[in-house]
Amino acid sequence: MVFSPPSVEADQGYPPELCPALPKSLVRLCEISENYWWTWNEDALTVFREMDPDLWEKTEHNPERMIKEVSYLRLAALATDVNYLKTVKRMIVAYDHYMAAEDTWAKRTMRDPDTKIAYFSAEYGLHESLPTYSGGLGMLAADHLKSASDLGVPLVALGILYRQGYFKQRLNLEGWQEEIYESANFFNLPISLVRDSSGNPITIDVRIRQRTVKIQAWRVEVGRIPLYLLDTDIPQNDPTDRWITAHLYGGNNDTRMAQEIILGIGGVRLLRKLGIQPSTYHMNEGHAAFLTLELLREEVEKGTTFLDAEPKIRQQCVFTTHTPVPAGHDAFTPDSMDTFFASFWPALTLNREQFLNLGARRAGDPWEPFNLTVLALRYARKSNGVSKLNGEVCRKMWHVLYPTKTEDEVPIGSITNGVHARTWIAPLFWNMYDQYLGEHWEEHMWDPEVWANVDKIPDEELWENKAALRERLVSFTRHRVLRSRRERGEDQDRIQAVGNLLDPHTLTLGFARRFSTYKRADLILRDWDRATRIFSNAKRPVQIVFAGKAHPKDDEGKRLIQRVMEWSRTPVLYHRVAFIENYDAYVGRNLVQGVDVWLNNPRRPLEASGTSGQKVGFSGGMNLSVLDGWWPEGYNGKNGWAIGDGVDDPTIQDDIDAQSLYDLLEKEIIPMFYERDEHGLPRRWIARMKEAIRTLNPLFNTDRMVSEYVTQIYEPTQASALPLTVAIV
Ligand SMILES: *Cc1c(COP(=O)(O)O)cnc(C)c1O
Repeated sequence: MVFSPPSVEADQGYPPELCPALPKSLVRLCEISENYWWTWNEDALTVFREMDPDLWEKTEHNPERMIKEVSYLRLAALATDVNYLKTVKRMIVAYDHYMAAEDTWAKRTMRDPDTKIAYFSAEYGLHESLPTYSGGLGMLAADHLKSASDLGVPLVALGILYRQGYFKQRLNLEGWQEEIYESANFFNLPISLVRDSSGNPITIDVRIRQRTVKIQAWRVEVGRIPLYLLDTDIPQNDPTDRWITAHLYGGNNDTRMAQEIILGIGGVRLLRKLGIQPSTYHMNEGHAAFLTLELLREEVEKGTTFLDAEPKIRQQCVFTTHTPVPAGHDAFTPDSMDTFFASFWPALTLNREQFLNLGARRAGDPWEPFNLTVLALRYARKSNGVSKLNGEVCRKMWHVLYPTKTEDEVPIGSITNGVHARTWIAPLFWNMYDQYLGEHWEEHMWDPEVWANVDKIPDEELWENKAALRERLVSFTRHRVLRSRRERGEDQDRIQAVGNLLDPHTLTLGFARRFSTYKRADLILRDWDRATRIFSNAKRPVQIVFAGKAHPKDDEGKRLIQRVMEWSRTPVLYHRVAFIENYDAYVGRNLVQGVDVWLNNPRRPLEASGTSGQKVGFSGGMNLSVLDGWWPEGYNGKNGWAIGDGVDDPTIQDDIDAQSLYDLLEKEIIPMFYERDEHGLPRRWIARMKEAIRTLNPLFNTDRMVSEYVTQIYEPTQASALPLTVAIV
């Protein structure tokens, strides 16, 4: 691992005085570069990219840096470029309209004008330029904010700003993952330090390991939604404490605990400092559950007894759980709890045992770890899993907490995840949808009638656009693989071979996700020879692009990457199998937009939802997936393919699923892709693409998802969750 220490002095944010350096007609770009709205507006993307396409790549798509680094000459030229200015103007009109819109879905729909949601999440995957995410949980949280903004939902979000984010991935010559940690220069990010009226940074205090830790906050604009990111890397703190917010999911259990205290307790304190009194606190996963303790403490401080405080807090909190295995939940030993909370429980008027019971699966057992999911379930008026199947799994897993209930009565519902379509749809497809789906289709994303119009799209046009995206993915992959092979010093033959890597007319599969063992990245290699035969077929070729990181401590995950790399070096597969390093949102967009078939083969039922497959559907790709997570709700027999037989027997599941995967490829998918009519079109394939677009897109988008959170979770005031039957006091 390569570490560079965090910066010595905290940045002071972007000084607004810099903006006037822009020519007058471009001055507004400065403001728009600081609102992640630009990531889902096509004109804004064009404006920043065209400013200087090379610099755009170099800055990793960071408009904030573009504005600082682009040459003044270039800016002056742009300021006289009529076409450029037209796009700029259109973007500004759209932005102003968006930010000022009064007639939003939420205004029309929400019953209670005082509703204000505070959304807490340990990670947010807004864009590749802000490395505060590791995978699906962060993507989901970011897409939640984006749709909440689009729909006008009154929401404020809280998270952590990690100085070194998640790691960057490099593979060495042996195909082994190496992690690189780089300190972000906050000065170059579209974030601003939160200050009080006299211009001083606002700080709040929390107690961690017998020390007072100061936290500052950075504000990120996500359309109309403010996101506050907490940060302990400030000079007043002890050096150890400055590292608390250095890495996402890094460090040991104590670091984790400290981060979760920052998020939950620090988050609530920041809201108070800002004068924000939410009506509902949404915990996205258990990481934020300590917020309930702070809310209880506030009540008790006001003079309420602990017993009276509990139902009050329960009215204010809701909880989304994503983790279908017991080991995946954050839990801390009673010893750690002592270290971090010994001074906290007296403030709740509890003794140690009573306090530990708040997070115990079995109350009264002194060895029971303090489980954050238990704490969150205890104080959430509503709890939900993230797909129907995941809801069932969660009810079964947490039945132990509700011994007087049947499994069906366990108060955990489900709201199935979606994706923010504007972020993930390829612009080519967006334009095509504009043309055929009817006016304002994007404002009615969850209306099946909108998507029924897909039949109006001519087959040729749909196919050509898909082919263009596939071709772009091929170029992108070559570009990335070339860079990687050079960097890791591969021999000249391997470097030259990149020129023929992948083919733009070949059936293209994609597999990109975290390399956790349950996701079984190597399932396709279970029968190495058969897999090699399928992928090296000269007459009906197939190719596949892999991407994904393994957790730094997960050697088994790293071995999976190595195996895939080894397979890609099989001489007959030189041109057919590629691995793109450093999977992030940008790699993700290229992949989900370019592939024909998205492969997803987790060990059922361990994928809570999965969202990458939902992204694929918006740009004409199809899913080849185990019936896990969201897919049982999406699959109808005609809009993709289902791997396996839906049986969850761990001893035979791998074999059955691999067999089924090969059979589907050989007997259905490959023949269907290469079956062409006299115009060279695969009509049956295109019909299936249209069926996928028609049936999946109205369901698996975050507009639909957030609307359900509003009507089922945020707005109802009746607590459906029963208090846990185990009494605490
Ligand atoms: C969408 C996305 C994910 C989540 O994908 P899963 O289907 O949950 O594996 C993870 N990482 C990135 C970069 C993504 O874009």
